Amino acid sequence: MNPSPLADLDEWEDDLLRRYPESENEEAFRDYDAEARPSVKEFYRLNHRYQTLDFVCSKRDEYLPLKKRQMTVWEALEYLNTLVDDSDPDIDLPQIEHLLQTAEAIRRDGHPRWFILTGLIHDLGKILCLFGEPQWAVVGDTFPVGCQFSEKIVYHPFFDDNPDTQVADYSTPNGIYEEGCGLDSVTMSWGHDEYLYHVVKDKLPEPALYMIRYHSFYPAHKEGEYDHLMNDHDREMFAWVRAFNPYDLYTKSSERVDVEDLRPFYDDLINEFLPGMLAW
Ligand code: FE
Ligand code: FE
Repeated sequence: MNPSPLADLDEWEDDLLRRYPESENEEAFRDYDAEARPSVKEFYRLNHRYQTLDFVCSKRDEYLPLKKRQMTVWEALEYLNTLVDDSDPDIDLPQIEHLLQTAEAIRRDGHPRWFILTGLIHDLGKILCLFGEPQWAVVGDTFPVGCQFSEKIVYHPFFDDNPDTQVADYSTPNGIYEEGCGLDSVTMSWGHDEYLYHVVKDKLPEPALYMIRYHSFYPAHKEGEYDHLMNDHDREMFAWVRAFNPYDLYTKSSERVDVEDLRPFYDDLINEFLPGMLAW
């Protein structure tokens, strides 16, 4: 069994574009019966099978002490860029260029500096792959564990193979949580969002932290699920998560980015909010 069926991490994001096309026009022509590629489907099968509450707790214990490495933001960007996968180098841009495309689109729209920085760094948690984590524990739509899996999560039937489905305490809508407890008290499936949140928390404005922590939580920010676990503050902050989403989904292009040209602007931005070494 191949633990990493995707040709590259972007294959998951390409499939998001199929599920959530950009314009209403595309929406009208959207083929609702279209299936994900077999590699993407296999990826979700593994993700839904193995993301259990126990698994997430073990990964949190392993990573959240943040004792793996000390790196500046720019070093982390360069480290992420060393991720070699089976993607086609003629078509797929280096990760750093995708992140700069996202940040530049936010900058062009006149958003605050912390918002631009969020675009630049939001996927740095993908370095989990370089620490040896399989794709299904790095990317994919995220969801709470320890409670019922929403039927609106893509490929929901694959959760039949998740051992947590057999645990009565985890199988009610609230599961181990209190209704309205707030997402900070809810354990999310493990991946690049939650990991990066812990690296930068306390250092960025709260809307940026929500964007980072929940940008892959499509079941909530696109499908409106899990409202019963949110509090009013989460609902307010999710306006920011939704504002960020189009920049994440729709700014990828094959147009090259001149990294060295942009570097001085981004060095200043990094120094303003996230100077020096960060613990990863
Ligand atoms: Fe992401
Ligand atoms: Fe992204």
